[in-house]
Amino acid sequence: MRLSRYFLPVLKETPSEAQIASHRLMLRAGMIRQQAAGIYSWLPLGFKVLRRIEEIVHQEQVRAGHIPLLMPTLQPADLWRESGRYDDYGEEMLRIQDRHKRDLLYGPTNEEMITDIFRTHVGSYRDLPLTLYHIQWKFRDEIRPRFGVMRGREFLMKDGYNFDIDKDAALHAYNRHMVAYLRTYERMGLTAIPMRAASGPIGGDNTHEFLVLASTGESEVFYDTAVTDLKLGARKVDYDNRDEVSAICEEFTSLYARTDETHDEAAFAAVPEARRKVGRGIEVGQIFYFGTKYSEPMGATVVTPDGSRVPVHMGSHGIGVSRLVGAIIEASHDDRGIIWPEGVTPFHAGIVNLKQGDSATGGVCDQLVAGLEAAGLAPLYDDREERAGAKFATMDLIGLPWRITVGPRGLASGKVELTCRRSGESDEMSPEAAVERLREIYAHH
Ligand code: ATP
Ligand code: MG
Repeated sequence: MRLSRYFLPVLKETPSEAQIASHRLMLRAGMIRQQAAGIYSWLPLGFKVLRRIEEIVHQEQVRAGHIPLLMPTLQPADLWRESGRYDDYGEEMLRIQDRHKRDLLYGPTNEEMITDIFRTHVGSYRDLPLTLYHIQWKFRDEIRPRFGVMRGREFLMKDGYNFDIDKDAALHAYNRHMVAYLRTYERMGLTAIPMRAASGPIGGDNTHEFLVLASTGESEVFYDTAVTDLKLGARKVDYDNRDEVSAICEEFTSLYARTDETHDEAAFAAVPEARRKVGRGIEVGQIFYFGTKYSEPMGATVVTPDGSRVPVHMGSHGIGVSRLVGAIIEASHDDRGIIWPEGVTPFHAGIVNLKQGDSATGGVCDQLVAGLEAAGLAPLYDDREERAGAKFATMDLIGLPWRITVGPRGLASGKVELTCRRSGESDEMSPEAAVERLREIYAHH
């Protein structure tokens, strides 16, 4: 992509309404535009990152055996009257009437609707286990939307729902989600720690939240610092193997890590003092097991092998897809701008032409674009008539992890410069070598 033909409305000034780095940087980098309190347009650069995050979420769900579908944003109120939540949910729910005076609502979550789909189409234990999920916009009329996309009113969420014959099978689904979530966050360059949580309006006893450590996080967290060293890495997981999946969950939840809601001073005191830490975290996901809370009142039952009928055991599992864009920036930025992890970057590399209009530098930039594209990578070529300083500042702000700088001095000896955004280190090499290096780097992402 040539920057001169792209739509990247970067801001020179720091917007005064933004209180935290990610919100500031998303506005300055031209990623979002606020349309109403907590409601945003996703401009092209922001939209690209959102889509990349969504894609990782999809891939890891499918890998775990979960099945995508798509439910609507608007839901009939009657479904929520069946579960009893229509009155309970309160002012966070946006209630709407259509022209026939039928009550609708903009879904804040989808337990009722998915239970309705299940009870309509599934009736036998033979169809279990089943986990269905979607990635869809939600609306919650938050009393204080803030921090940009981190606490929006309209936001994109992945929500999945498991249906199982009994509690053991449903807890396996719970564990499967935990492991799939750990892998999802790792691929985005994040450390998200599962912490035991309180259940809130979804209900149920078993629930973990996933928290990304950041000083601007809304939750207070208490943890053993050893938990931040745990990595899933490249290990293969057989998601059907209950023992294997449960052992991974054990590994990631046995060290102390709690939010203020579930914090236990006595248990925390047992952590060696040097590893005891109190900090803040951003909730990027939550998983729940809630048994028959919805299946019972809504009649979602299956016939068991002995011919009796039982309500299915369920859980729900959410990832804050749009919140993750902000969370990743909170975890990865510096004074000059965003630093995208390779797994979610909107473009794989930036190309800066130091002498626009020069046929030699222009020719090499075109060659780099073609080489990177042939390697399956997406470069952003800054071909504007701008000073070098302004081009560097834009690249630093939008945070592409790698930059190739092409100038007459280097080209005199056939070299371009490859710079790492995170470390600031630069290496001189031929254009072909730069393409090859980037191909190798991205082979793992
Ligand atoms: P919070 O405690 O932050 O209000 P929640 O516990 O009510 O969130 P869940 O029902 O667990 O949210 O939703 C799943 C995920 O959706 C959350 O972990 C979070 O990442 C994301 N999310 C929830 N509310 C918002 C919001 N207002 N804006 C953006 N993302 C959100
Ligand atoms: Mg939650």
